[in-house]
This record gives sequence, C-alpha cells and structure tokens, in this order.
Amino acid sequence: MSIEFNNVSDGGEEQRLVTKTLISQDDNEATLRPKKLSEFVGQSKAKTNLSVYIEAAKKRGEPIDHILLYGPPGLGKTTLAAIIANEMSVNIRITSGPAIEKPGDLAALLTNLDKNDILFIDEIHRLNRSVEEILYPAMEDYALDIIIGKGPAARSIRLDLPRFTLIGATTRAGQLTSPLRDRFGVMLRLELYTPNELLKIVKRSAEILGIPIEEKGAFEIAKRSRGTPRIANRILKRVRDFAEVRAKGVITRMVADMALNALEIDDLGLDSTDRRLLESIIWNFGGGPVGLDTLAATVGEEAVTIEDVVEPYLMQSGFLNRTPRGRCATKKAYEHLNVDFNGQLEF
Ligand code: ADP
Repeated sequence: MSIEFNNVSDGGEEQRLVTKTLISQDDNEATLRPKKLSEFVGQSKAKTNLSVYIEAAKKRGEPIDHILLYGPPGLGKTTLAAIIANEMSVNIRITSGPAIEKPGDLAALLTNLDKNDILFIDEIHRLNRSVEEILYPAMEDYALDIIIGKGPAARSIRLDLPRFTLIGATTRAGQLTSPLRDRFGVMLRLELYTPNELLKIVKRSAEILGIPIEEKGAFEIAKRSRGTPRIANRILKRVRDFAEVRAKGVITRMVADMALNALEIDDLGLDSTDRRLLESIIWNFGGGPVGLDTLAATVGEEAVTIEDVVEPYLMQSGFLNRTPRGRCATKKAYEHLNVDFNGQLEF
C-alpha cells in the first residue's frame, strides 16, 4: 500500500494549542496514526460497520463502496481512510477540496488511479461546483465526461475509469449538496471521544514516542483534551516539555496539572477562547440568546471556527446551547466561570 499526499491545505486556522486542524507541532502525526482497525481506539459503531463492509468487499474482490466520514476535525477521519486502504491492501491518494481548483485537476487524479484504489478528499464540502460535477459520473458509472471544442462543434467523449473508492471527509455534512451526498453508499459519523478512550490514545502515543507517563498523568491529559485525539497528542508533547524542564522527566498527575494550567487549559479542558466566548455571552448578551455572527464579531473569531472548532465541545460538555434564536450559556457555564445567574461574580 502507498500513501500519496496531493497538496493538502492546512485549513488556515489560528495557531492556538487546541486548534483541531494540523499545525507545525503535528509533524510526526503520521507515526502516531494507527495502521489497523484493531489499533483504532473508540468509535465502536463506525468500526463495527466498517469491518463488515471491508470483509464483504474483499470476499467479492470489489472496491469498498464510496464512504463519507463526518464529524469535527482531529477525530480520525484521515486515519480511518488510511486504515481502510491498509486493510483492503490498496493504495490511497490524499487530497482536499480546496486543493482541487479545476475540473482538470480532478480528472488528472482520477485517471491516475489503479483498480480498487482509494481517493481521499478532505474538506469535500469545499469542492467547487464545476469540479463536483465531474465527480458524479465518476462515482456512479466510473466514467469521466470530457467536453472537446467549443460552441456548436463541441462534443462530449466518455473515458472509462478504473473501479475505485472515494472517501470524503467533512466537518459539516449539511453543507454537502444532495446530489453529492446521495452518491455515498456509506455515511459514518465520528463522535467526540470519552476521557477513557483518550486515556488509551495518550498511553499508546506516549509509548510510541518513548515518553515516561503515569496512569494519573495520562488521565489528566485525556480529560482536558476536548474529546479530540489530535489535541490529546499535541498536549502530551507540550506536557513532556514541562516534565523534562521542570520535573524529573516523568509525566505525573501533578506535572500534567501544572503544565496544563501554564497552557491556560482549565480542569474541564476549556482554553482561553472557550472562556472568552462564554464570558461574552454572559456579560455582553445577558447569557443569550445571541446570533452566531454577532458573537463571532464580539470575540474576534470567524463564525466557521466557532461553529466547527469551539462549539462542539462546549455543547457536548453542557456549557452552551444552540437554540433557533441563538447561542445561550447554560447554568453550568455560569457555575464554571463563578458567575451567579444575576451576572454577579461569586467569591
Ligand atoms: P481528522 O482527519 O478527522 O482531522 P486525523 O485522522 O488526522 O483526524 O487524526 C488526528 C490524529 O489523531 C492522528 O495523528 C492520530 O494519531 C490520532 N487519532 C485519531 N483518531 C485516533 C484513534 N481512534 N486512535 C488513536 N489515535 C487516533
């Protein structure tokens, strides 16, 4: 199996520690990626279904059906795609929606595939319309329709493609056009991880990277990583720095706690952006409801970043509600920030 990257975009997100997109600190992310389904922690529903589809496709000697993976960034969509390729013993070519600018770029990728290969398109909701239209016949009939010439003399020829699998990943399945969404045979939603699942991931990564860590130190990192493996791995590396410089090199609970406090990640995993957002809802908008765009302008973040990166964890952990009239801070948010319901600081 070979893995080829095709100009993957970095998402252009601000460089805070809890970003969910790749930043330079994730350079050795590939070494931490599980290679087999059995090494992939959590997501048991997705894993069980996938193992059936993989076995069935292998038995028939056919490529696996087109798959759409969706959920917040950093939960393992790229990792799962590479695992599927590995389990199917086929090649995978990795690209992303914004990297495919013209229909010709996609045509070049498709015609270079071998039989049963996997094409992985990250951020597939960001494909432009003319590129997307090339995908429809490619996914459905394994064919490429090419227009030659212009005006009345223009004619269309159809090129056959090898049978391949498209795996699309997106943070927002709702933004996919329905013709594209309908062409995926399998849709799998990835969920945020529980602290116990993240504990396994932190321990596994520490072992691979040769970082001495105690169970309680690993759990402290796990419960403060916003349910996201990429963030857990990133925090693990930063905490290692603190352990080496300020302690005896071993990540204990105390070392992890000290490092996480220094990184301004609080005991429930909220960072300064999360707190700023909740404080803004409470202090500027009386606890809400407040519209997304107004909130984004007030805290100086982009609305998509708030929606895709900040809010999923705040909602899952019960600090924020999305209502039809806007965002509201919950009682738990008031309590966590030590503010009583009348907007007074509690001491
Ligand atoms: P996404 O494509 O959803 O943004 P990735 O597949 O790039 O996320 O995963 C980010 C990192 O998190 C990877 O380096 C991988 O090591 C780690 N990771 C993700 N999911 C798991 C998992 N279930 N078990 C172990 N490590 C994981």
